[in-house]
Amino acid sequence: MNSKKHFETEAIRNQTERSQFGEHSTPLYLTSSFVFDDVEEMRAAFAEEKDKNLYSRFSNPNTSEFVDKMVNMEGAESGYAFATGMAAIFSTFGALLSSGDHIVSCRSVFGSTHALFTQYLPKWQIETSYFNVNEPNTIEGLIQSNTKILYAETPTNPSVDILDLDLLGKIAKKHGILLIIDNCFATPYLVNPIKYGADIVVHSATKLIDGQGRVLGGVAVGKKDLIREIYLFSRNTGPSMSPFNAWILSKSLETLAIRVDKHCENALKVAEFLENQTQVKVVKYPFLKSHPQYEVAIKQMKLGGNIVAFEVHGGMEAGRKFLNNLQMCSLSANLGDSRTIVTHPASTTHSKLSEDDRLKVGITDGLVRVSVGLEHINDILTDLNSALKN
Ligand SMILES: *Cc1c(COP(=O)(O)O)cnc(C)c1O
Repeated sequence: MNSKKHFETEAIRNQTERSQFGEHSTPLYLTSSFVFDDVEEMRAAFAEEKDKNLYSRFSNPNTSEFVDKMVNMEGAESGYAFATGMAAIFSTFGALLSSGDHIVSCRSVFGSTHALFTQYLPKWQIETSYFNVNEPNTIEGLIQSNTKILYAETPTNPSVDILDLDLLGKIAKKHGILLIIDNCFATPYLVNPIKYGADIVVHSATKLIDGQGRVLGGVAVGKKDLIREIYLFSRNTGPSMSPFNAWILSKSLETLAIRVDKHCENALKVAEFLENQTQVKVVKYPFLKSHPQYEVAIKQMKLGGNIVAFEVHGGMEAGRKFLNNLQMCSLSANLGDSRTIVTHPASTTHSKLSEDDRLKVGITDGLVRVSVGLEHINDILTDLNSALKN
């Protein structure tokens, strides 16, 4: 695209070519395959001499529209869409790693990503070394001659710590390794890791990108030659996104900026409210001055995101009681939904970790994670307040 417009405009106006019906909104192309005029056209499509859809595991107008928007928003060269965020992450590793390779990762990563590192990749002799989120000075010491990937998320889940992307980019470049960032919590509206040197950015589109808790999806965007490897791996192994989900997610992107603006505005108000409550021991939100990486957060993020973590006095019991006292906020495993969702990581998502391992990733027994939604701020605060007071 030569005349690049603003983020919001591209999210709306960057759409698949209209059909002969002149539809205003992109229709759903629910078709498994595409038809050819003659055998020569079909040969050319298979040989990739002709840019034509062939089979929806490879590409489809709806998935291409979604991917094009994501590529554009992240400032990437190319991309590919997946059925889920985990499919995007696993396919990226599957395509780019070989037996004997090594990964250096932040210890605070999404639970299933951690399971890939500990349970599945070792089956192919791929080992992972971890650094703690607050000790980035230890990263270089973990890099070995067979290290292929530096992997991280920022903000982290669930304790919303921030990693300095500029530093990660410089380390990856110095050592000639790939930097892969899971940008799910920030979205391309708040941070573009490619600007800091990321080679691949992966997303769970299930979260803020859908934003309304309807469909699962994932995407990987980045350098053309790497995405080409990921595409070939995926078109043969089959983790592709369905056209229906791509149709939903592409429309979701039209409202990403306006939704994320409001999510962040509400989240900052929730964080400020919680800081003033006597029942609350500590609040973590990237745009609060008290956040340990506040300076990095304001430097690299447009706004603070929609996740607030806080610790109630009274440990495990108090945390569980707080959740049970909520009247409106949902207890659910998702995040980035229009509905405010509250979780208690120590007794749910991270219950399988030992207490020692939980503390290494900042999960105390009383930690509560709030995915702040788009309800009226007063209703959110009223619910949190009465659950704290009970
Ligand atoms: C949810 C999530 C994933 C996995 O995405 P799915 O779409 O559920 O497969 C990966 N990374 C992060 C940070 C997530 O929050």
